[in-house]
Amino acid sequence: MAQRRGPPLSKAELRAQADAAIAAATKPVTKLPTKLSRQCGKCGEITAVMVEPGEAAPPFQCKRCDR
Ligand SMILES: [Zn+2]
Repeated sequence: MAQRRGPPLSKAELRAQADAAIAAATKPVTKLPTKLSRQCGKCGEITAVMVEPGEAAPPFQCKRCDR
């Protein structure tokens, strides 16, 4: 009598399934631009700039003085 088992799942396949489930459940980390508000030392005007993640903040430029 030959006993037939179901299609065997190897440990690697089981692990791949588990990893896929975890990846589906875990939200990807989305990096959003950061709003950077700085105040002018001369006139007191606050200028806000959006800084992209991973990028350095641009040099401050007052929207009132630097025209
Ligand atoms: Zn200014």
